[in-house]
Amino acid sequence: MKATCSGYPRTVLVLGPSGSGKDTQIDKLAALCGYEKIGTGDMFRREYEKKTPEGIEAYSYWSKGVWVPDELVYSIFSIWMKQYDPEKPWIFSQVVRAPGQVGLFDDLLKTYGRSLDAVVLFALSEEAAIERMSLRRHCPKCGREYHLKYVPPKKGEVCDDDGEDLVSRDDDTPDSIRQRLREFNGKTRPVIDAYTARGLLVEVDASPPIEMVWQGTRKALDTWREEHS
Ligand SMILES: [Zn+2]
Repeated sequence: MKATCSGYPRTVLVLGPSGSGKDTQIDKLAALCGYEKIGTGDMFRREYEKKTPEGIEAYSYWSKGVWVPDELVYSIFSIWMKQYDPEKPWIFSQVVRAPGQVGLFDDLLKTYGRSLDAVVLFALSEEAAIERMSLRRHCPKCGREYHLKYVPPKKGEVCDDDGEDLVSRDDDTPDSIRQRLREFNGKTRPVIDAYTARGLLVEVDASPPIEMVWQGTRKALDTWREEHS
């Protein structure tokens, strides 16, 4: 771990709803501190392509849109973890989604000789989520992304590069944003409660602009360091 980050937690789990900007914060932390970024985004697909027995079994669930059983998820995850550098600090994104996974995640870390040091929650208010996501636009022609407030196009709502009319995603309406956020909060609440009870939870307000969230992230980790030195 780089000097500015010495004393920071070595094994971190990040939680946050979509639109909280957690991936941007994880990228910044990885660049600053050398964290290995660990996610399971395309894990099932890649394991299926390798035709491992676990990958094929998991495919029978996710290809039908069915929840893959926790034990199976974590047996695949355990194999998946071998690609990450054990000498580096680790930062996990959103790999614990249900209370039954809390213990499985502890067991997984134990097999790698580690334990969880901190859980960083990027909390987002409904108003902030709506403002952030309902103002997103992209160019259907070249794919360039805009935000009417933070990254606005130069003229009207057309692409700077090719003049194409910008569009928003179908699921970026206030109602569906609100619904996604409530779903996340409902599902994740018991997980957050479990980590709070163990004294692992660090909360960062994800509502302000990215740079301010970043300051909040650094401050939270500095505080963690002071408490654990
Ligand atoms: Zn364009």
